[in-house]
Amino acid sequence: MTETATANALGPRRLRGLRRIVRAQAASDGAGVRLLRSLGTPSLPTVDPFLMLDEFRSDDPSDYLAGFPNHPHRGFETVTIMLAGRMQHRDSVGNTGNLGPGSVQWMTAGRGIIHSEMPQQENGLMWGFQLWVNLPAKDKMTAPRYQDIAADEIPVFEAPGVHARVIAGEVGPPDRLVRGPVTSVATAPIVLDVHLAAGSSWRVDVPADREGFVYPYEGDVEIVHGNATRIERSHAAVLGEGDAVELRAVDNARVLIVAGKPIGEPVARYGPFVMNTREELEQAFRDFERGTFAAPT
Ligand code: MN
Repeated sequence: MTETATANALGPRRLRGLRRIVRAQAASDGAGVRLLRSLGTPSLPTVDPFLMLDEFRSDDPSDYLAGFPNHPHRGFETVTIMLAGRMQHRDSVGNTGNLGPGSVQWMTAGRGIIHSEMPQQENGLMWGFQLWVNLPAKDKMTAPRYQDIAADEIPVFEAPGVHARVIAGEVGPPDRLVRGPVTSVATAPIVLDVHLAAGSSWRVDVPADREGFVYPYEGDVEIVHGNATRIERSHAAVLGEGDAVELRAVDNARVLIVAGKPIGEPVARYGPFVMNTREELEQAFRDFERGTFAAPT
């Protein structure tokens, strides 16, 4: 039994339990990229404000080489978290970005972008995630924005047995607060990529005004809340109410912790468009067909 490392501010915390655990399903997207989808499936359509989580992981180039050729987005944000391999991002108004191992791209599509996301390797492991984050109605038609974050720009919170890459949000007590580089996102997200040594535990604040989930992508973890509940790799576990989460690693484990402020608005989604109403979806299709979708203004 090891001591639980903590990243708390002060005082006792109400530990979050689990609402449900959903196994990721095999899916295919883009021009035929094979992936595992947990959020964004019929069994778990959303965890407000999150709309989708895909894990892509393969060392067989035929699973990923086709990539994601030109496609549009409107009304939300796409977050690409690379663990291994290289992708290139290119949009229709000339923005480009290279995504290497450990890097993150936080893209606010807003009123619209048309882009491609293509592998920059012909063999080897390609591994990472795409997370979709909704935008509130007032921000759905905002100007597109990119936050390209290199691996060495992502700060790390360290504790015994714990190595947490802080992509978004804040972790730690006031005297050693670690703040993620992602800024000005409507839903005040917390996105942590956490490595836990076998047998170690970590308790981290996830404030009561956020909804979220954890997703082990290597090894299994337990959520400690009264009795411990085991979460196997490639399962999304939706957090219950509380203001902290405690994880215990069964094996050496790697896990995403994702939370944000729920938006609480109607969601009208179809493919790459996520709006509030059916009329707004139809407008997105009309703008795309007319070629005015992502015109610079
Ligand atoms: Mn895309």
